[in-house]
Amino acid sequence: MTVLHWFRDDLRLSDNPALNHASQSAKTAYVYILEEDEAASALGGAAQVWLHHSLSALNQQLDGNLLLYKGCAIDILPELMGALDAKMLTMTRRYHQAGVKTDSEIREILAAQGKSASVISGNLLWEPEEITKQDGTPYKVFTPFYRRGCLNAQPPRIPLAAPALDHAPIISHNALPLEALRLLGGADWQTNITKDWNISEKGGHARLQAFAAASSNDGINDYVDGRNFPARTNVSRLSPYLRFGQISAHQAWHEAGKNKSPEDKQLDIFRSELGWREFSYSLLHFNPDMKTNPLQKRFASFGWAEDSEHLKRWQRGQTGYPIVDAAMRELYQTGYMHNRVRMIVGSFLVKNLLLHWHHGEAWFWDCLFDADRANNSAGWQWIAGCGADAAPYFRVFNPVTQGQKFDPDGTYTRRFVPELQDMPNKFLFNPWDAPKDVLRRAGVQLGQNYPQPIVEVKASRQRALDAFADLPKSKI
Ligand SMILES: Cc1cc2nc3c(=O)[nH]c(=O)nc-3n(C[C@H](O)[C@H](O)[C@H](O)COP(=O)(O)OP(=O)(O)OC[C@H]3O[C@@H](n4cnc5c(N)ncnc54)[C@H](O)[C@@H]3O)c2cc1C
Repeated sequence: MTVLHWFRDDLRLSDNPALNHASQSAKTAYVYILEEDEAASALGGAAQVWLHHSLSALNQQLDGNLLLYKGCAIDILPELMGALDAKMLTMTRRYHQAGVKTDSEIREILAAQGKSASVISGNLLWEPEEITKQDGTPYKVFTPFYRRGCLNAQPPRIPLAAPALDHAPIISHNALPLEALRLLGGADWQTNITKDWNISEKGGHARLQAFAAASSNDGINDYVDGRNFPARTNVSRLSPYLRFGQISAHQAWHEAGKNKSPEDKQLDIFRSELGWREFSYSLLHFNPDMKTNPLQKRFASFGWAEDSEHLKRWQRGQTGYPIVDAAMRELYQTGYMHNRVRMIVGSFLVKNLLLHWHHGEAWFWDCLFDADRANNSAGWQWIAGCGADAAPYFRVFNPVTQGQKFDPDGTYTRRFVPELQDMPNKFLFNPWDAPKDVLRRAGVQLGQNYPQPIVEVKASRQRALDAFADLPKSKI
């Protein structure tokens, strides 16, 4: 019997329970569909680049047997199953509303044809329905969700080895070459952003192992403190691999704990960050409209400002605040942004510029390799103060002191803002305060080769506090 495995956000052979299930039958065929109907909100530019390279690597792992299509899964799959004479479809569970709907429609269509479709959990450590409060309602606060809920539930499974695959005879059946998916537009930007990444399952494992086996103050061994500093190499940078499923959360969970006691503080905090990912998915599962609607309804009619020039300056890294500009340029140049600076630029957008978090969500969606439906919406709602367990509205990150604290020697900021290369540390994060001769010696002409600040920190903070103070008090 032939079984068709439909790859989606599980682009790996190891620890893929749905693929394992498929491989137990007899022959296995494989498909990836670039879904163009409403089931998939269109991928952003960076994610498309990541996907292109991922599919190329996966196809190699499958000895060239991955069938590629573009279009509506509901039209493509039943026909393809017929051509392959496949009796069963396997897929890894997904959680966004449109995807869930497509999957249940496909199950129905196949059932009517006497065929089956198995949706198998594989990308989360705990399924959203497993982690609820005693009364069955979902948690709204992270710490009890993770500490009381997740850590008292069944521990994450030991990762599965890649199955031995017996490929079904390949058929072409209108399958497309990778280039026909048009995931790469040919711009230089697309070539440049991939240069620091090995975009494949193997690349994900190399990164995970390097992080978990790092020397004393590197990788996981100084994660608790080091993860706050964007110039340090203490975060894993696994997020795009987790997003596209080239590694599973289970593999990350267990590999990180390989040489550590379960009580180890560094391990505990790293695992709790994986827990934040679980929390985001739980939020998405229980609040399917989270991409657009605030989780706290009192924010629904908040009076955000409109200023396209400010938005453009933020997107391009031209705000005149060096740590903000460094982070926005890191995003555009590398497809990644460190978490500490995601919080700083997010706060700057929604508080100091008072622009709607939707703008930030959309720009991150387009530029991040790890752009993730659950994590991105949850991150933006958190920073805007309208999410579950969100940063309180009065918490406004100060871009000057944050820079001084978390990039104390300026390594990160100078890397992405070379105009300030020769600026002394004392004025690196507030160049407008520097005496004229300091600016001259550093070759900085404010307003000419580096921008003047687009808003003033104190006044814009106060404007935000006043606006947020007008919100109705109820948090629902
Ligand atoms: C405004 C904003 C937007 C964000 N958008 C995304 C996004 O689109 N995709 C995304 O994967 N993460 C997003 N995050 C969360 C976080 O910034 C990234 O997951 C993290 O920076 C990825 O780097 P890393 O793999 O080195 O993280 P590590 O510190 O090594 O953490 C390991 C893994 O844990 C998970 N994780 C860590 N922090 C968080 C968090 N706060 N929320 C959810 N999961 C987390 C990620 O899967 C990450 O890869 C966003 C955060 C903010 C504030």
